[in-house]
Parts: sequence; C-alpha cells; structure tokens
Amino acid sequence: MRRFEEKVVLITGAASGIGRATALRLAEEGAKLFCTDLQAEAVEQTVKEAETHGTEATAHVCDVSDPGQAKSAVQACVDRFGRLDVLLNVAGILKMEPTEVASLETWNKILSVNLTGTFLMCQAALPHLLESSGNIVNTSSTAALAGAPWSAAYAASKGGVSAMTRTFAIEFGKKGLRANAVCPGSIKTPMTSRSVLPEGFDSSLLQRLLPLDKARGPETVASTIAFLASEDACHINGEEIRIDGAMLS
Ligand code: NAP
Repeated sequence: MRRFEEKVVLITGAASGIGRATALRLAEEGAKLFCTDLQAEAVEQTVKEAETHGTEATAHVCDVSDPGQAKSAVQACVDRFGRLDVLLNVAGILKMEPTEVASLETWNKILSVNLTGTFLMCQAALPHLLESSGNIVNTSSTAALAGAPWSAAYAASKGGVSAMTRTFAIEFGKKGLRANAVCPGSIKTPMTSRSVLPEGFDSSLLQRLLPLDKARGPETVASTIAFLASEDACHINGEEIRIDGAMLS
C-alpha cells in the first residue's frame, strides 16, 4: 500500500515511540516526511531509517510548546517540500502524580506541551492544509474518555485535544480540511516504560490503565494514524478512534 505517494507529512514527536513508528509506517507508504522532535540525534535516526524505504525525509528540532518554534517548523517544512498535506501531532509528555500533591509546575508543563503545543502546530499549519485540502491527526488518549488515576493534568490536556479536534472538523470541514484523533491506551513505548506510579498507590485502580489481553507496540497506533490521514478515511471527520485492547470497553 502506498497511500501517501507525493504527500508531504509533518510529524511531531517523531524521535520515539508512536511518532517514530508512524514516521516509519508513512515512509513505507511513500510519504515525504518532515520529522520533528526535541531530541535531535534520535529524530535524525528516525529520518535515516525512513530513508531506507526510498523516501525523502528531513529532521528538525522543535519544541511544540514554543510558538516561534512551531511556526518555524511548519515554514521549514513548506520551504523544503513546497507544500503540506498532513499534520500529525504526536509529541506529548506524561507525569503521574496524586492530585493532592500535584505541582502547578507539572500542570503547566503538561498543558503547554500536550494541549498548547498541539494548538500551536495546528494554527501554524492551517493555511497550508487548507491550500492542499489536507488533514490533521491529533494524539489524544483513553485518559480523555474515562477517568485516569493520578493524571489530572494529562487527562485535562488530552480532553482538550479531543475537544479541539472536533472544533477544527466543524470549523474547517466545509473548506475541505479533516481533523481526527487517536486515543491510545497502554501502548509499549519509552513514555510508558519511564512512567512511575505514585508511592503507595491504590492498586485496585491499576486495572483502569491496563488492556484486556496485553499491551501492544506503537505500530498498532501508527497503522490507525496512517488510515485516518489517508484518502481511505476521506469521509471521517471529527472522529476519535480508541486503540486500547478493550481497556475501556
Ligand atoms: P514517547 O516515546 O515519549 O515519545 C514522545 C516524543 O515526544 C519524545 O521523543 C519526546 O521527547 C517528544 N516531546 C516531548 N515534549 C516535546 C515538545 N515540547 N516538543 C516536541 N517534542 C516533544 O511517548 P509515546 O508513548 O510515543 O507518546 C506519543 C503520544 O501518544 C503522546 O502524545 C502521548 O501522550 C500519547 N499517548 C501514548 C500512550 C501510550 O500508552 N504510550 C497512550 C495514550 C496517549 P522527550 O523524550 O524529550 O520527552
């Protein structure tokens, strides 16, 4: 399947986990890739692997929570490839803290990357996506759909991402632009393996974070993102798809 031949795709968070797996999936499908992340060396590595599929790819360091860097990343992508067809907002951070002791610093940081960063990238990309009748896939979470213990800031940020995605679908749908979201849950990535549960946590709440059978790898999310970003999903707009092994079923 080469659904992205001649399409230009900008991905945030492309150095690791779901973003990296998505970049490689789209490279296999012929996309021209503009891969961004905070991690310079790791995003270069993603690009090198993407190029083995015979596609053109560029690495770019960008902190999505910085308005200037978000704008420059989109501009650099358009300067490099002449257009933008798909924006995939995957960059994100998670820190689990019991709400009673959660710091304002953590709250602000999580909101600034996950929610404001997604907004800034979308806003910067919109003129180009409207020109190409392109689309956006944002990365929300099961935390946006059901209670997620010790994750007030993270859940709030992802709830905002889901709401914002539906807003874009309605605001720009008539102009030919689609906006959808994925809601992963319990995917094996560096983010989840790094996550530390709070000391003395209530283990009866843990099942809310676990899939029915087993945790899967980031390729399972990459394939859904690729579907939503492709013409196969041309009549899907303002939708969010859960990829969580029945965690919330
Ligand atoms: P990951 O392996 O940690 O990858 C996230 C990437 O985003 C990392 O390279 C990270 O860099 C980068 N990043 C962090 N802050 C950034 C910023 N300000 N600007 C640009 N890049 C930044 O995590 P993942 O599990 O693949 O998660 C990808 C997305 O899926 C996130 O939005 C996450 O919330 C969402 N998600 C994941 C799961 C799951 O089970 N894994 C479930 C639901 C939703 P650093 O390493 O420097 O932080």
